[in-house]
Amino acid sequence: MPSFRPPLWALRAAIVSFWRDEAAPRFWPDGILLIDNGHVAAIGDHSELAPKLPAEVRVEHFPDLLIAPGFVDAHVHFPQIDRIGAHGAQLLDWLERYIYPAEARLSDGDFAKDLAKFFVAELLRHGITTALVFAASQKQSADSLFAAARAKDMRLIGGQVLMDRGAPDEVLVPAEIAAEQSSALIRKWHGKGRLGYAITPRFAVTSSDRQLELAGKLHSRFPDTLVHTHLSENPREVALVRELFPDHRDYFDVYARHGLAGPRSVFAHCVHLSDGEWRDLAKAGSAIAFCPGSNLFLGSGLFDHSRARRMGIRVGLGSDVGAGDSLSPFAAQKDAYRVGQMRGDNLHPFDAFRMATLGGAEALGLDHLIGGLEPGKEADFVLIDRAATPLLARRLRSVADKSWSADLADTFKSWSADLADTLFALSILGEDRMIARTYVAGRLVHRRASPRRRLPPL
Ligand SMILES: [Zn+2]
Repeated sequence: MPSFRPPLWALRAAIVSFWRDEAAPRFWPDGILLIDNGHVAAIGDHSELAPKLPAEVRVEHFPDLLIAPGFVDAHVHFPQIDRIGAHGAQLLDWLERYIYPAEARLSDGDFAKDLAKFFVAELLRHGITTALVFAASQKQSADSLFAAARAKDMRLIGGQVLMDRGAPDEVLVPAEIAAEQSSALIRKWHGKGRLGYAITPRFAVTSSDRQLELAGKLHSRFPDTLVHTHLSENPREVALVRELFPDHRDYFDVYARHGLAGPRSVFAHCVHLSDGEWRDLAKAGSAIAFCPGSNLFLGSGLFDHSRARRMGIRVGLGSDVGAGDSLSPFAAQKDAYRVGQMRGDNLHPFDAFRMATLGGAEALGLDHLIGGLEPGKEADFVLIDRAATPLLARRLRSVADKSWSADLADTFKSWSADLADTLFALSILGEDRMIARTYVAGRLVHRRASPRRRLPPL
């Protein structure tokens, strides 16, 4: 145990977090989280840790709240936020009807700046402290996003969208110009503070061979960037890619042959992969952003998350707003569970919670820095109000009712059925109101205003 010196501060509350390389979460019903200079200095039981703290360390006590790592949104589009909840279309029509016009609006620089600020504030309000984000095709849209995230010191990865065909002229940028702009953005933002850059071709449908080739070259020139794109979301899209790239084995091969499929690639969706594509993606060490809310909303299909897990593929949860209808990481967990149910494949609440935190960090190659509360990691975390709504409070009171315990232990097959039941109820009934506070690098960046109800200890 190191000797602790101020300026340190600590929070006392129930704490839950996954640890790298551990299957189940760690849980402290009455824990202490010690913060030093934006990092986790220590974590443990209050009874053990508190006596070792110097008297002058400030301890804030939140007896009703639950501390969890900040959530990770592994795939989201900030320019689409105004078109969230657009009715009645599947992917290709939805893009034409709603999304390209929305993204064209980001040619207005002031509009892009305002929207980026709003988006970042909404992420934090929903408890998301890291996201992998599509900007739009205008360079300034990416500049606006990075500036807004930098102002909050968020660990955020984003990129200018590359598209040079198959969409209205207003949102197309010729391949050479876009590659040059992306290169300038990488030099300006990648590694600045906590920001990272993702080379971001929208999808194979809207990029020429030349553009994909330039994107691949850019990634080999800046190999610690990510590659972020869509793969195999919708059957019509898959058929269109087959038409557009007749010389390629399959959709995944289009990216692979252009140097865009490796361990730093994150593919959103992967709903309709062939056996060969599953194999190739696993072999390449690429990650998947599972976007269940979006897949249900656009009627795209049901992702096989068990298969990904069996194959050792890293999977994070993405909201995919605006095709997803909520930024809430609780909604993403709920939708992931629903997709599993439709496949006859129960998703355990621990697995859902892991995908929304550490799993997302793994997908983005950031699990050594974020995604859990191990000492030394960056102090991105949230305080969850388990009694944020009357219904949630009533539902969670049942966790304390021990007459349920035997059934729950069997249901969840876990050392901590109460915790599993709590996390499950949070995911099913959860929304933005449950995030009482959000901290980024140990700094309070969001505090909910509404009053709290009381619950027995977890
Ligand atoms: Zn998307």
